[in-house]
Amino acid sequence: MASEPGRVFDPAALRADFPILDQTVNGESLVYLDSGATSQKPQVVLDTEIDFLIRANSAVHRGAHTLAAEATELFEDARETVAGFVGAAPENLVWTSGATAALNLVAYSIGNATDGRGLPASAPYALRAGDEIVVTEAEHHANLIPWQELAARTGAVLRHIPVHDDGTLDLHAAAEIIGERTKVVAFTHVSNVLGIVNPVTEIVALAKAVGALTVMDACQSVPHLALDLPALGVDLAAFSGHKMLGPYGIGALYGRTEVLEALPPFLTGGSMVTTVTLDEAGFLPAPQKFEAGTQPVSQAIALAAAVRYLEALGMDAVHDHERAIGRRLMAGLRDLDGVRVLGDAAEGTADRIGLASFDVAGVHAHDVGQFLDSRGIAVRVGHHCAKPLHARFGLTASVRASASVFTTDDDVDRFLDAVAGVRSYFG
Ligand code: PLP
Repeated sequence: MASEPGRVFDPAALRADFPILDQTVNGESLVYLDSGATSQKPQVVLDTEIDFLIRANSAVHRGAHTLAAEATELFEDARETVAGFVGAAPENLVWTSGATAALNLVAYSIGNATDGRGLPASAPYALRAGDEIVVTEAEHHANLIPWQELAARTGAVLRHIPVHDDGTLDLHAAAEIIGERTKVVAFTHVSNVLGIVNPVTEIVALAKAVGALTVMDACQSVPHLALDLPALGVDLAAFSGHKMLGPYGIGALYGRTEVLEALPPFLTGGSMVTTVTLDEAGFLPAPQKFEAGTQPVSQAIALAAAVRYLEALGMDAVHDHERAIGRRLMAGLRDLDGVRVLGDAAEGTADRIGLASFDVAGVHAHDVGQFLDSRGIAVRVGHHCAKPLHARFGLTASVRASASVFTTDDDVDRFLDAVAGVRSYFG
C-alpha cells in the first residue's frame, strides 16, 4: 500500500528514539502493536528520569536544602507542562498513580461526600439512594467498577448508554437515560477496544442540561489527540503516563476548579494538610488536597519529558499519522476472510485513533496472538478489561492492534500479512 499524505513527521525515523524497538523477537524484527496497553518510552524519557535520580533526587515541598528546592521546582514545572498539554492550569491537575487511581479517587471522594461523615448534607455531588450514575457500555473496567462500588455504597442506580453495532454510542438512548435523577455521567473519550472517538460535546451537553457531573476517561485520547479539557467542558478527566510515552506509576486527574474545591479528599495523610491536632485536620487546597503521601516525583518529571516529545511532534500531526495507520489497519482487516472488526463504523461516521480489535472466526484470540508473536508481532489478546463490551459483541476475547507515533505502514502490512495466514495455519 502507498503511504498516505498529510503526515509531517517520519515515523520510521522516530524508531531510533525508542531503544526497545531495536531487537528481534522469535527471529524477526519486533513490530510493537500494543501501545494501547502500554506505550514504549523514548530515550529522552528514560534519561530524564535517571538523570533526576542521579542528580537531584530529594523529597519535594519539604526540605530546606538545595536538592529539595530543585526537586520541588522540577516537580511543579512538570505539573505545569502536563497540565498545559491538556489545556489546563497547574492547580487543576492532581497527580495520581494512573487513570485507575484517578477514577477511584473521584468515585471514593463522591462517596465520602455522601456517607454522612459530618460533611454538610448539602455537599455538592453527594449521592442519595435513587440517584443515577450513567456510564457507557464501552467502558474499561477502571471506569465501570468504581461506579458499581459507589452505587452499592450509596444506593444510587447505575445505568448505561448502549453501543450501536458499528461501535458508536447510541445518543438517542443517552438523551433518554440522562435525566433529572442523573448525578454523574462517566464515559470514555476513546474506547480502548474500538478506537472510536466518542462525541464529548454531545454527552457533556446532555449531562450539563441536568446538572450532572461529567467524568471522562481520557486514557486513550490524551496520548493521541490534541486536547483542551477545559474547552471540552468536562468536569473531571483521568489519564495515565505509561500510555503516553511516559513512565509507569504516574497519571493525572484534571478537574475544574469548583469541582476540585467541592470534592472532599479521598486519601488523607502527610503533605495535604494545613493544621493538624490530635482531633482534626485542615486540608490544603487542590491539587495538594488530593495528593496525600510521597508523590511519584521522578515519574512526574519524566512524564513532562514525554509530553515535550509529543509536543515537538505536534499533536495534530500525531493524530493525523495514527488516524492514517488506523485506516490502514481497518481497511486491511476488513479485506480478510473470516475477520470481524469490533466497532466497524463507516469511514466518516466517527473519528478514530490507530487501534483496531478483531475476531478471527474459529480461532481463539490467544492462538492468534501467539501466532503473531512467532512472527515478531506484539498485540494484545483477551477482553482488554472491557468484558461487558465484548459480551455486547458476543465475544469473550478479541485481538487488538494499537499504534503509536513510531508505527509505520510496513508494521501494519507485516501484521496484516500475518493475520491473513492465521486461518490456514489453524485450519
Ligand atoms: N481506561 C482506559 C480506556 C484504558 O485503556 C486503561 C488502560 O488499559 C485504563 C483506563 C486504566 O489505566 P491504568 O491501568 O494505567 O490505570
